[in-house]
Order: sequence, then C-alpha cells, then structure tokens
Amino acid sequence: MTIPGRGLFTFRQNQTQPKPTPPQRSVAALDSMRLDLRDIAPCLDLRISQRAKRMALRLDSKSGQVFLVIPPRASLRKALEFAREHREWILRQASTVESPPQLKGGSVLPVLGVDRIIRIHFDETLKRTSIILADHELIVTTNKDDPTGRIVRFLKNLARTEITRMAKEKAALIGRTPGDIQIRDTSSRWGSCSEEGNLSFSWRLILAPPECLDYVVAHETAHLVHMNHGAKFWALCEELSNDFSGGHGWMKINGQSLMRYVT
Ligand SMILES: [Zn+2]
Repeated sequence: MTIPGRGLFTFRQNQTQPKPTPPQRSVAALDSMRLDLRDIAPCLDLRISQRAKRMALRLDSKSGQVFLVIPPRASLRKALEFAREHREWILRQASTVESPPQLKGGSVLPVLGVDRIIRIHFDETLKRTSIILADHELIVTTNKDDPTGRIVRFLKNLARTEITRMAKEKAALIGRTPGDIQIRDTSSRWGSCSEEGNLSFSWRLILAPPECLDYVVAHETAHLVHMNHGAKFWALCEELSNDFSGGHGWMKINGQSLMRYVT
C-alpha cells in the first residue's frame, strides 16, 4: 500500500528566460546568495538543479522549508529578484506547515487511538530507560537527557506486537498463515506483502486511529490470497476490516500526517 506524494507545491515563473550565458560562480557568491535569501524569508534556501528549465519556488510540506530552484545557468541576481517579488507567497506557504510533534515531556501522542501525555521521570542514577503505556499516559522513566530514541524503539516494539497479533488473527480467518512479519520505517509504503507471504508494516501505524491500523493489516493479509488489487481482493479486504471505509478513507486523506513524527 503506497503513500501518496508529499505534496510539493510549486510556484513557477511564467516569463521566458533570456539567452543564458555561462555563469562565473564562486562558493562565496553562492554563500552570499543564501544569506540574501534568508533575509527575504528565514525558511528560504537555494537549490541549483540540472533538470530545472526555469526558476521555481518549491515548498517541502514536511519541513516547511521553501527552495528557490534554479537552472545551472540562471542569473543569481535575477533569481534574487524573483524571490523578492514572491516574498509574501513564500511566507504564506511556510506558515501553512505545522511544526512536527515532539516526543517530549508534556506532549500528547496518539497511541492505538488514545491520546497519551508523555510523562518523563528523569533519574540519572538509573541504569536503563523503562516505558509504560498507561491508559492516558506514556510514562518514561529514564537516565537520558533526550529519550526520544527510546520512545521510538518502544513504539516500534508495540507496533510489532499489535500488528503480528492482528495479522495472525485475520490470516487465520481465511485459513492462511503469514510468513515473516516485519516492522519498518519506509517513506513510500504503509505495508507490503511479498510473493512468499512475508508481510511488512510501517511502525507509524501505531499512531493512526485503530480502524486505519486495522484496515492496513486487513489489506496486506488479503494479499495472502489475492496478489493484485482486483474486485475479489477488495471484497476480501473489506470482509477482513472492522471499518473498511473509515480506515481506508482516513489513510487516503490523512495518512501522510503520520510521517511528521520523528524520522
Ligand atoms: Zn495492496
């Protein structure tokens, strides 16, 4: 099951370019160009692209950074002018991107469909970090200044346990047994099923509403019978899902938001 595009919003220049002349560019000139761009908007950076045919502004909707993409021969002076002219557009686009959720004390993390407040109890005398998933809290007892890595590892293990159980249950309903079940962090797929019947899933599904996790597991399990996306596959997928339209619909519209959490 693939993840739809990252939503790169592009603002292209309409005017045609004058005949290019080979530019004489030093590292210092490019550095000073970058500083000028930062003056226009702090989120603005330069990218020289061999494939670019004309100047364009591109928003990375994940990081909120805006890139001024220019062809190798473009004039830096003109590029700077172009960026100045579109300053408002740049600032407006960057402000539409939410800052990524932090895995810090006091932050709220939706785990298995329930919002949990992260509580961090720091104790430097401890030998190791322990994490407990409570009803409305994720309790982290740690000797680490930044336990983010430990929290992610905990979530991956939780995803492995939950998804393995669910996939085995669903497969049993149709008389199949999945092969290996792997938990990954791929940016292009929520899940996959190999010819050999091995399944893999993104750990981030543990942060999605339960019907979505359920739907993706149903989807990959249904591939144990149908290695295609034909009508019979979708009928089985629906049969194996608790809430097919809810899960499928949410993933289609909001799935990308799961990529905002730490990478
Ligand atoms: Zn599929």
